[in-house]
Amino acid sequence: MTRREPLSFAGTPVPLGTTAELRLKVAETYTADPVAVPVTVVRGAPGPTLFVTATVHGDEINGVGILRGLLNDSDFSGLKGTLIAVPVANVPGFLNQDRRLPDRRDLNRSFPGSRSGSLAARLADVLFREVVRQSDYGIDLHTGGGERSNFPQVRGDLANPGVIELAQAFGCPLILDGTGPDASLRKTAVAAGVPTLVYEAGSARRFERPFIEVGISGILNVMRHLRMLPGEIVEPPLRLWVDRTHWIRARAGGILDIKVELGQPLRRGETISINTNPFGRERSQLKAPCGGVVLGLTQLPLVHPGDAVCHMARLDSREVVAWGEYWNGGSGRIRS
Ligand SMILES: [Zn+2]
Repeated sequence: MTRREPLSFAGTPVPLGTTAELRLKVAETYTADPVAVPVTVVRGAPGPTLFVTATVHGDEINGVGILRGLLNDSDFSGLKGTLIAVPVANVPGFLNQDRRLPDRRDLNRSFPGSRSGSLAARLADVLFREVVRQSDYGIDLHTGGGERSNFPQVRGDLANPGVIELAQAFGCPLILDGTGPDASLRKTAVAAGVPTLVYEAGSARRFERPFIEVGISGILNVMRHLRMLPGEIVEPPLRLWVDRTHWIRARAGGILDIKVELGQPLRRGETISINTNPFGRERSQLKAPCGGVVLGLTQLPLVHPGDAVCHMARLDSREVVAWGEYWNGGSGRIRS
């Protein structure tokens, strides 16, 4: 895409061949100090622009580790194009270690935002104008919310050819189809013509090294695919394209004995958890309604009726076998 040169952020130009560490003012504190989003812009020769955002949900910090590793340990000397890295998109949520903003809004339901709206809308507006609209492609980094942890997976609108390309290139074996929620960063970016992928891995308020490594290698793969970096992408052992997932919810209140782990292949009818009362007596069991793989699990083994225990991908029997071979071969057992 041809872009106006020099690229600028809130009036600060960043010429080709330079790197800039910027702070974009998005709000002010009660004590009237500026609140600013830190942004690193790495520019090489002419080429595409890729944004990578982390911490749109303020307590989902694995993406901070991913961007720190990417920026510190990568060789960008041959870069063609521009990387816009936003390690802390939701600064107020990050400071409070809260998924949401202080106005209780969810930034990831607030895009594209507006200049005169709520705190969430104003923050979304700055991110959308300065970062998303200046990019050709995007990757948004997340983890499981609340007490849930996710096995590494990418999510995207697989009706969009640009998103399919990113999903294929990232190299994560599990690829989930979905447009994302209304007013989410990725859905709004795709609608604005910027194919954007979500990488989901791990849990909130943690740095989980193996999941961070998968994220770094995925972004480098995407940059190689876009010819921003030299070299070929590192191919995963397999790719499973998932178009149906199920939430397995507790039928009764109680204390869980969880029998599966993240990424584990599931046969139909396999026990996911046993629910006991405080005397240790069994009340009920949750079983897999179909074959598949564990995408996400609660980390809190205490449930009310209706609480989400397990998020699973539905796979056909051939895919379950393929995933089982990958999993049992050892390379699929990515543990946090
Ligand atoms: Zn999130």
